[in-house]
Amino acid sequence: MQPSRWQQAWREAIRDPRELLSVLGLPALALQVSAEAAAQFPLRVPRGFVARMRPGDPHDPLLRQVLPLDAEMQPVPGFGLDAVGDAAARAGHGVIHKYEGRALLVATGSCAVHCRYCFRRHFPYAEETAAAAGWRDAIEVIRADPGIHEVLLSGGDPLSLATRKLSELTDALRGIGHVRRLRIHTRLPIVLPERIDAELCRWLSGLPWPVVVVVHANHANEFDASVDGAIRALREAGATVLNQAVLLRGVNDDVDTLAALAERGLAAGVLPYYLHQLDRVAGAAHFEVPDATALALHAALVARQSGYLVPRLVREVAGDVSKRPLHAAGDGRDPHPVA
Ligand SMILES: *Cc1c(COP(=O)(O)O)cnc(C)c1O
Ligand code: SF4
Repeated sequence: MQPSRWQQAWREAIRDPRELLSVLGLPALALQVSAEAAAQFPLRVPRGFVARMRPGDPHDPLLRQVLPLDAEMQPVPGFGLDAVGDAAARAGHGVIHKYEGRALLVATGSCAVHCRYCFRRHFPYAEETAAAAGWRDAIEVIRADPGIHEVLLSGGDPLSLATRKLSELTDALRGIGHVRRLRIHTRLPIVLPERIDAELCRWLSGLPWPVVVVVHANHANEFDASVDGAIRALREAGATVLNQAVLLRGVNDDVDTLAALAERGLAAGVLPYYLHQLDRVAGAAHFEVPDATALALHAALVARQSGYLVPRLVREVAGDVSKRPLHAAGDGRDPHPVA
């Protein structure tokens, strides 16, 4: 079968750090690139996303998110392999049922971009994906539990699956009366907007439930006209579109950058949802922003932005019943749990 346009763009993604640096006119930066880090979690970035990076700028906020650096290989206490406790929560069929009413499906292991701060760098999810066995086990888990009202597709990136594969799942879910909502967590509308094609939109607009698409952009520069078009198409297909971001040192850890992200998102039709404190995974320590700084940034955002432009500042803590809002130290709540 002919690959579709988005599958072609996916295949053409840059995977060689030297090529990326040469495209950006930054060959000198190669000295800081770590072959070891790249072997552990390979570089991967679609060319359309690279086109939004500033040539010649070694501190470009989009480049920092994808370039494997030496700093990743320095062990830092507190930064481990399973920062969010998913290894324990996963039952082997790709379904994570941690929060009331919501079943999260690890739909697939693939992503079009490899984000250096992601916990996935240690979980290739090669086998335990919900789509692997034709969704059968995942569908049985959902069918058997009338308390599950929302099915959440995550991954990896669930939109890396062919639309045909996604509709196999939703066709089966139509027959399960207690499913009332579908949510899709995806970075593809941002990093590979070609993915939001006519076939995908036909599928979305034919679904019988409210659909929420949570995209993932960390910086205003990640938006361009092609991303605007993808988000417009999602909304025209009936989806509510929200954004989650990760607070990242050297990428978006100042109030102007966070405010610009929310405003640029709004212009595209996306409202902020969560601003995550980093998962403490090995290799990501150099991105961490201290809780006190995170809280101060958030307070500054609250003071100057419309309420709907302020994301909730949260951290994921193993064993909690929900994402945990960050609180100031000394208010009686533990801002920095020990895992
Ligand atoms: C984050 C997450 C959800 C969704 O949580 P919301 O607060 O509803 O966005 C559901 N299940 C799991 C396992 C999660 O990690
Ligand atoms: S799961 Fe999301 S954050 Fe992690 S590598 Fe894939 S796109 Fe990036």
